[in-house]
Amino acid sequence: MALVNENFLKLPGSYLFSDIAKKVNTFKVTHPKQDVIRLGIGDVTQPLPPAVIKAMHNAVEEMASKSTFRGYGPEQGYNFLIETIIKNDYASRGISLEPSEVFINDGAKSDTGNIGDILRHDNSVGITDPVYPVYIDSNVMAGRAGDLIDGKWSNLVYIPCLSENNFIPQIPDRRIDMLYLCYPNNPTGTTLTKEELKKWVNYALENDTLILYDAAYEAYIQEPDVPHSIYEIKGAKKVAIEFRSFSKTAGFTGVRCGYTVVPKELNAITLDGEQVSLNKLWNRRQCTKFNGTSYITQRAAEAIYTPEGKEQIKEIINYYMTNAKIMKEGIESTGLKVFGGVNAPYLWVKTPNGMPSWKFFEQLLYEANIVGTPGVGFGPSGEGYIRLTAFGAREDCVEAMRRLKNWIK
Ligand SMILES: *Cc1c(COP(=O)(O)O)cnc(C)c1O
Repeated sequence: MALVNENFLKLPGSYLFSDIAKKVNTFKVTHPKQDVIRLGIGDVTQPLPPAVIKAMHNAVEEMASKSTFRGYGPEQGYNFLIETIIKNDYASRGISLEPSEVFINDGAKSDTGNIGDILRHDNSVGITDPVYPVYIDSNVMAGRAGDLIDGKWSNLVYIPCLSENNFIPQIPDRRIDMLYLCYPNNPTGTTLTKEELKKWVNYALENDTLILYDAAYEAYIQEPDVPHSIYEIKGAKKVAIEFRSFSKTAGFTGVRCGYTVVPKELNAITLDGEQVSLNKLWNRRQCTKFNGTSYITQRAAEAIYTPEGKEQIKEIINYYMTNAKIMKEGIESTGLKVFGGVNAPYLWVKTPNGMPSWKFFEQLLYEANIVGTPGVGFGPSGEGYIRLTAFGAREDCVEAMRRLKNWIK
């Protein structure tokens, strides 16, 4: 019989969202007349922008005719999209990239999860805590995380992000081989300024650390001092891979498209001390295990960068960020402490008097009929917080704040 990869057996079941669903269902059965507002969703709700829909229709038409039909495309993505990305997302910020440094994919989850394929199993791994669970679980599967002891993986370096340190991760006193950073952050909604990110790039340069930089919420940045790309920091091309996604930027959670930047200057090392280009390795990995994102999807992504597309996604992001503003002000007026919501569609609320996340979740559900996501579900440092998202409908956000204010009077 085939032997399984036993690393998978180390993973505890992912019960967070099913536990939430169960608790909400119980409440609904026992309180059939109450209407519940869900502010826990991590998915967009607004439809795709018209420019994207039009591009997809056109691409479908091309597929219908023999002369314009497309079969397999390049594994790395079509040049029309890569060139558009470089021009709009990087050149416009003074960052030069070659087309072969950009890899189009079917979303950032795949690549943030798969990138470990090209890295040895015994690298040390740093994560900020709380964190997007993919970074941890994919390292568990690769045998890189060690064992789960008292809620923490023995081989991971947890870097706590708490209100006490303003959610700014402190540089560790030892070296780490690979480090995940996600800014603007899910779940806390907080960001790093250029100065703060620079400290991490310098740490990586000094310690030969590989930074895996997830910028899925880049499009939500409103403040001028927040970097959109890690490559805005000098030297970052030598140490960082950047992941981007059209999911939150343009409502592509169901369409599936993103991209990964692996600079040519970025090397890792063999045990013998030989420097190896990660761009080459990642290209090899993709060509072997990935056959490209669909043509229709890549045309859809290209349309985000047209003048109409840009205007339309800006409007959608403004809608979510106005929700965030309404929620932030509403929560603050109750006296609760809230973080994020300025450059990201997430609000990270501190529970009153250090109440555990799950207890506050239940009170919020039973007394205000609002559903959030318990912070502890994102890691040990999330205990004592709850995450609310701004992806809902405006009227629901307004009504939720009204309920919150009545409840906490
Ligand atoms: C939503 C999200 C992504 C995007 O994932 P896709 O696979 O592109 O939909 C990536 N990273 C974080 C932290 C996210 O919250």
